[in-house]
Amino acid sequence: MSSVVLSIGSNLGDRAQNLRDAVVRLESVILPGSLRVSGLYETEPVDCPPDSPSFLNAVIAFETELEADTLLNETQKIERNLGRPLEREKNAPRPVDLDILLYDDLSIATERLTIPHPRMLDRAFVLCPLAEIRGEFALSAKNSDQEGLLRLPDPLFSD
Ligand code: AMP
Repeated sequence: MSSVVLSIGSNLGDRAQNLRDAVVRLESVILPGSLRVSGLYETEPVDCPPDSPSFLNAVIAFETELEADTLLNETQKIERNLGRPLEREKNAPRPVDLDILLYDDLSIATERLTIPHPRMLDRAFVLCPLAEIRGEFALSAKNSDQEGLLRLPDPLFSD
């Protein structure tokens, strides 16, 4: 069993629904009772083409039996199924973007997978929701540039 943390984001269509759909589609790989979901953040696009819409971002954590590489297959399948084209301009608007931030305490560097995610420590929209779930990132989140970042009052899932 492994503990994983994913960043989830959307800046196209019904963004909150896209994020909910992505989490629901992950359910088969999430060990029961292990899912944790951060608050939702509205964020201005970073490093995106001009006039890109703003993002909704969150971080989720869960336990899984999948190997990291197999988990990436799953997240990429979900991205495609929710409408992300295979070929597209770098950082073009997308219904859903799933990045694997952490996989246990492993460091992985293969052709298709880098863990910890290489840009996670540079991005307030990753660090702030991450710190809600993993307290050890609170200081990095506090010191990050939070301009253009807004924590929304409503959770992704209301039960
Ligand atoms: P992006 O367009 O930013 O979602 O990047 C997708 C590409 O990043 C894919 O080719 C993945 O193989 C690669 N990649 C490398 N490390 C990761 C990671 N930790 N999580 C998700 N995708 C990754």
